[in-house]
Amino acid sequence: MNLTQQTLAGFKEAYGYEPSGVWSAPGRANLIGEHTDYNNGFVLPFGIDRRTYVALATREDKICRVTSSFSSEVVEIELRDDRPTGLDWALYPLGVAWVMRESQTTGFDVFIDSDVPIGAGLSSSAAVECSMALALNDVWEAGKSPIELALIGQRAENEVVGAPTGIMDQTASMLARSDGAVLIDCKTMETTHIPLGLSEQDLVVAVIDTQVSHRHSDGGYRSRRESCEKGAEIMGVESLRELEVADLPRAKEAMDDVTFRRVRHIVTENQRVLQTVSALADARLDELGELLLASHASMRDDFEISIPELDLAVATAMEAGAIGSRMTGGGFGGAAIAIINSAKLSQLETQVEAAFEESGFGAPRVFAVIPSQGARKEA
Ligand code: ADP
Ligand code: MG
Repeated sequence: MNLTQQTLAGFKEAYGYEPSGVWSAPGRANLIGEHTDYNNGFVLPFGIDRRTYVALATREDKICRVTSSFSSEVVEIELRDDRPTGLDWALYPLGVAWVMRESQTTGFDVFIDSDVPIGAGLSSSAAVECSMALALNDVWEAGKSPIELALIGQRAENEVVGAPTGIMDQTASMLARSDGAVLIDCKTMETTHIPLGLSEQDLVVAVIDTQVSHRHSDGGYRSRRESCEKGAEIMGVESLRELEVADLPRAKEAMDDVTFRRVRHIVTENQRVLQTVSALADARLDELGELLLASHASMRDDFEISIPELDLAVATAMEAGAIGSRMTGGGFGGAAIAIINSAKLSQLETQVEAAFEESGFGAPRVFAVIPSQGARKEA
C-alpha cells in the first residue's frame, strides 16, 4: 500500500466515510543558504522524496476537524477571528485553515499521514502546512498562487504556532521540481529552477539524521534572528542582504564580536549560494564540495548553530569519500547532507554509525533523498 492509499484508509478508519481527495507536499533539504531567508537573502533548497499527505472531505457545517497517523486524538475548532491556541501539533494544519479563514466556504474533516522525519531539519512542518494549504485552496476554490500558499504556510507557523521561521521551507515545499533545486531570492520572492545533474555524475544526496531533535519555538533560532536584526540596524541597512563581503571590515569595527560573526555568516553565506549556482551550471564539483564545507564551518564557528553530532557527521562523510557535506536546516539538531558517489553510500552509512557509536552518541539514520516535485493533488 502506498502512502496515498494509506492516507485514504486512515481517513476512513478515523471518520467512517470516504474523503473527497488526497493532497501531498514534500519535506525539503537545503543544499546551501542557511538562515539567509529571513535576512532577505538567497537559499537553494530542493524537495525530497518524503512527503506529507492530507486526506480531506468538506462538511455541511463550518466545523474543522483534524487527526493524524501519529495521534489518535481528533481536534475540532471553528474558525473565528481569535487565533487558535494550545492545540499542539494540530496548530500546524488548523493554523493554515485559520490564516485562510476569509476564503472558508465549508467545514472539513482531515486525516494526515507522512513519511517526513519530524524535527530532523527536513521541514515536516512545511510539508504539513503546504499539503493542507493546497487542499484548502482546491476545495474552497480560494484561487491562491503557489507563492501565496507558501506565505500562508509561513504565517501559520509564525503567527499561530509561534515559530519565527523564514519563507524558505514553504516555498521549497510548494515549488520544488523533480530534477533540481529552487533558487529563491527571498527579497523579491523570485524563484529559479536550478538543475542539479547529480544522477548523470552517479552522485546522490545522503541525509545523516542525528536523531537529535530541535524545536524552532525554542530560543536559539529566535536569538540568531535578533542578532541579525541588530547587525542590520547598526549598519544602517534594511536587512543583511544589502551588505557585501567588502562591507565586513566596517561591520567588524561597528559591533561586538558575537553580532559581527552572526553578520559574517549571513553575508558570506549569500555569496556561497550564488557561487554554488554557478559551480552547478558548469559541473565544477570540487568547488561545490568546498562551498558546502565552508558553509558548514561558518554555521559551526560564526553562527554557532551546529552540534557535535552534526560536526562528526560532516567529518565522517568526508572521510567516507563525500565531495561535500554540511548541516542542513535551522540547526541545534537535525540532519546533515552529503553529496557522494552512489557506490559509496553504504560505506558512508557504516562509517557514520561506527563513528557515532565510538563517540557515545545516539544512533543516527542515514538515507539517500531524491529531488522531488512540490505540493500536488494525489487522488
Ligand atoms: P521540522 O524540522 O520537522 O519541520 P518542526 O519543529 O518545525 O520540525 O515541526 C515539527 C512539528 O510539526 C511536529 O512536532 C508536529 O507538531 C508537526 N507535524 C509534523 N509532521 C506532522 C504530521 N504528519 N502530522 C501532524 N503534525 C505534524
Ligand atoms: Mg520546521
